[in-house]
Amino acid sequence: MSFARVAVPVPLGQAFSYIVPEQLAEDVREGSRVLVSFGRRKILGVVIRLEDATDVPADKLKPLLAVVDPQPVLPPELLAFLVELARYYLAPVGEVMRLALPALERTATERLDQAGLLDGMDVQAVGKLVQVVRALPATGERTTPKLRSKQASQILAELIELGDWVSVSDLARQHKSARAAVKRLAELGLVELEKHQRALDPFFAEATRDVAPTLTEAQNEAVRAVLPTLQSHGFAGFLLHGVTGSGKTEVYLRLVQRCLELGRGAIVLVPEIALTPQLVGRFRSRVGDAIAVLHSGLSDLERQAMWKRLRSGELKVAVGARSALFAPVPDLSLIVVDEEHDGSFKQEEGVRYNARDMALLRAHRAGAVCVLGSATPSLNSIHAVNEGRMSHLVLPDRAHASAALPQVEIVDLRRMGPGPSGDKLISLPLHRALERTLEAKEQTILFLNRRGFAPSLTCASCGQVADCPNCSVALTYHRARGERLVCHYCDYTAQAPARCPRCGAPGMVDEGAGTERIEALLKESFPEARVARLDRDVAAGLKSERILDAVRRGEVDILVGTQMVTKGHDLPSVTLVGVLNADAALSMPDFRAAERTFQLLVQVAGRAGRGDAPGTVLIQTRQPDHPAIKSALTHDVNAFVERELLDREELGYPPFSHVALVRVDAAFEGAAHEAARQVAELGRRMAGENFDLEVRGPAPSPLARLRNRYRFQIMLRATERKALRPALLAIVRGRWDRRVRVSVDVDPMSML
Ligand code: ADP
Ligand code: ZN
Repeated sequence: MSFARVAVPVPLGQAFSYIVPEQLAEDVREGSRVLVSFGRRKILGVVIRLEDATDVPADKLKPLLAVVDPQPVLPPELLAFLVELARYYLAPVGEVMRLALPALERTATERLDQAGLLDGMDVQAVGKLVQVVRALPATGERTTPKLRSKQASQILAELIELGDWVSVSDLARQHKSARAAVKRLAELGLVELEKHQRALDPFFAEATRDVAPTLTEAQNEAVRAVLPTLQSHGFAGFLLHGVTGSGKTEVYLRLVQRCLELGRGAIVLVPEIALTPQLVGRFRSRVGDAIAVLHSGLSDLERQAMWKRLRSGELKVAVGARSALFAPVPDLSLIVVDEEHDGSFKQEEGVRYNARDMALLRAHRAGAVCVLGSATPSLNSIHAVNEGRMSHLVLPDRAHASAALPQVEIVDLRRMGPGPSGDKLISLPLHRALERTLEAKEQTILFLNRRGFAPSLTCASCGQVADCPNCSVALTYHRARGERLVCHYCDYTAQAPARCPRCGAPGMVDEGAGTERIEALLKESFPEARVARLDRDVAAGLKSERILDAVRRGEVDILVGTQMVTKGHDLPSVTLVGVLNADAALSMPDFRAAERTFQLLVQVAGRAGRGDAPGTVLIQTRQPDHPAIKSALTHDVNAFVERELLDREELGYPPFSHVALVRVDAAFEGAAHEAARQVAELGRRMAGENFDLEVRGPAPSPLARLRNRYRFQIMLRATERKALRPALLAIVRGRWDRRVRVSVDVDPMSML
């Protein structure tokens, strides 16, 4: 008799044992998706282990009901990695499996249904087929019968011109009676109709040809350092530390190419925002069509199609944001994490994992090379290099012979008044620099870490600030699409009041500036300039690419935006970059505030002067002597890092210790507080004699109330990672007040 340990998607930590019935024994493998009964429900799970014996009593065991997919969904390498990830984050193993599972196929659910196994169970399946049409190739002299309908002949002409499949519903969007016309054309034998699985992907259309440049000496050295390990299928971690514009992407491309030559697979992770058609086009034009692009805009069906093609080995390279780490890439030999310092690799909901850290783990398990690239490496990476756990590869100069790093200057906001616009964030030096850049017909990027018109609305009489009713934050004042107050945490929206809600006095004041106000001021001060804004309010996903394209085509003179403007874009005509307020990021209640600020400044500065004209960067601040700002002046990563590492060591913060944050929240403040106290107490009890483990708190979270829930946190810290584990396990398995949510965040990136 054999048994299966099955991970099921329930919030309970472990896997459950089932009997493998005789008739399924052939089909069940480790990594198979199976149907099981769980309590009174039926659910889908994944077999993580097959065993010959179990210590679960026989009367508690139920049989597996069915094997769902024809072959195991998870290859052994990926399965083992997921199990280890679940252990690392103390996350429910079934939830972790879900990160990697593809959607069910319609054919699979139909089979289960026919076998009478689904009885009313609600399963989501993909496999809706789309009708596509294309013109039949003209054989010799085709005599086109006269088409009575003008629309039909127009559609036919379009299809002939395109020479490819088009979905009928797309046609129907452009031509009123396309469906009838297509039917007629098919009857006449002029077009053929088919049902396709694959929907069109915007990234497929964009492939531009680009010729591989000759590598610079530094690029060459980097590639040569990685190749031997890659070829021998060994594990090694590399930090590719290259200044902005040094051509890191070129290094990735060569390594990926080598993988393909060897017939092996690779994963390339990029921050979501950097996943642009431009980047993908570059990969596709060089690496060919062997690449799957996984992005958040994909439908379940498209994602599943990509997944299948990877699993079958037809595609060997996955490019995508953090979740692409779970792609079933065959014979994995290389994982690249571009902009490895970027916060978006950390998932902040559900399973809180960090794709940057886990890339190293998966590479280690798979015998693959892991290359972490950045112009501003995380302190973790530098520390790993210092300890000899990773090799350091350096690209010290920009790749283009003519592109030098920009000149960076400080504008001390304490001493410098506002320019002609009247707002202190457009200081006189910045105003003048804008004038010069406009005159030279070059482009400017202005960065402000705050969207909306003003950060708050305050009553001039009584000082009351308009707060979010659900969260402990001020509401942001927006004007672009009607005057509104918006909570940036819970999306609560209200009309902006004309009178103070407390004292009734008229005259609510909108002090301070967000991107909307800066945009408006610029339009006023520079009426001839074309100003565009890039932040979450105007651009989600691919829309941001449209705005950046307009910048690339020279249709924008000044681009104002939030973090979205700081990420990896290659915009050669930008010569001026202004950081309007460097202090905002410094004041975050987080031990990484200085590191983040430094990275942000160097990254945004790196947008300037990437082409032939030299660039200038102005950083406005009230703390010109802060080390993060002083080091950004000279692009001196080493100076900043050295000093910051000393500070961290002294304070005992990562990378010199390991931290986990336990968050406790509830609708009732008292319940949350009491549970948080108990959690901390349990943590201390578990720490016992282990003096390496320090338990701090409970304390109200910096964001003390969010979506009407009161929040407390407890911090656990130890120099040895394993010292955290017993306490965290006890906390995760603890039975807490049912009204309270207790969640563990291992290696937290956000302290809010
Ligand atoms: P990074 O990712 O390091 O910021 P990119 O990979 O975007 O830099 O490269 C910056 C620019 O330099 C791009 O326009 C790229 O085409 C160009 N480039 C990269 N490598 C070379 C090379 N060896 N010779 C000439 N140009 C290069
Ligand atoms: Zn809110």
